Amino acid sequence: MPEGPEIRLAADEVATALVGQRAAAVEFAFPELQPFSHQLKGRRVIEVATRGKAILTRFDNDLVIYSHNQLYGRWFVTRAGHYPETGRQLRLAIHNARHSALLYSASEIDVLKQDELQSHPFLARLGPDLLSECPDAQTICQRLQLACFRKRQLAGLLLDQGFVAGLGNYLRAEILTRAGLHPAMKPADCSAQQLLELARQIIRLTRRSYNTRDIVNPPALVRQLKKQGLARREQHRFNTYGRAGESCHFCGATIEVSNLGGRKMYFCPGCQPPG
Ligand SMILES: [Zn+2]
Repeated sequence: MPEGPEIRLAADEVATALVGQRAAAVEFAFPELQPFSHQLKGRRVIEVATRGKAILTRFDNDLVIYSHNQLYGRWFVTRAGHYPETGRQLRLAIHNARHSALLYSASEIDVLKQDELQSHPFLARLGPDLLSECPDAQTICQRLQLACFRKRQLAGLLLDQGFVAGLGNYLRAEILTRAGLHPAMKPADCSAQQLLELARQIIRLTRRSYNTRDIVNPPALVRQLKKQGLARREQHRFNTYGRAGESCHFCGATIEVSNLGGRKMYFCPGCQPPG
């Protein structure tokens, strides 16, 4: 499942191809959306935004294409009128004079007016988006203390897109390690200082992952690991996620994995003692 940084990177690529350009044609596979094709033809794309794992393509006539990739959706950007070789099903195509932005396999696509976005069932329940709305640490701290969140285990809470939008399994593991919090802890168990540090790591590691194309370890550590011969990105991008049985780069303890919350939860027993 792509996480916020990968969705934002895909949106950036689509934005580079579309923003500022008039759509020569917009094609929908779903019959109920086809009437929108003529309303969007000739209109200019003004923004490609993300809200959690959804992408919002805004046009200059107040219409927005909402798409959610779910597990399998994938965008391709090609030269205008060219299609990639893929066994996937094309769901949405936005063509302009130079490029085509093609969305394959996604099952959730809708066309909404700008003022309908707030009441969309998926968007309405999202917390602030870490990469497009950029909440500050104070805002995240306040959310951690809300009655609906403060008694939930951090392992589950960080994946809840209603808390903040954009975190998935690898960011959750790395954030909790760097914040020094055991995944079974709850915000209610944490000191004010721990909550602030958690909020800072949520922001820092999500932005770093976006800026480095998914390398979450600190740059100095990455340089050191590369010098030790760990040159391939999968060898140096994470400290905790996917590294059960290996040593923590920060404290030397052996990374463990549990099934907390139904998904594999990696953690470092040295950095993250039980609360
Ligand atoms: Zn550790």
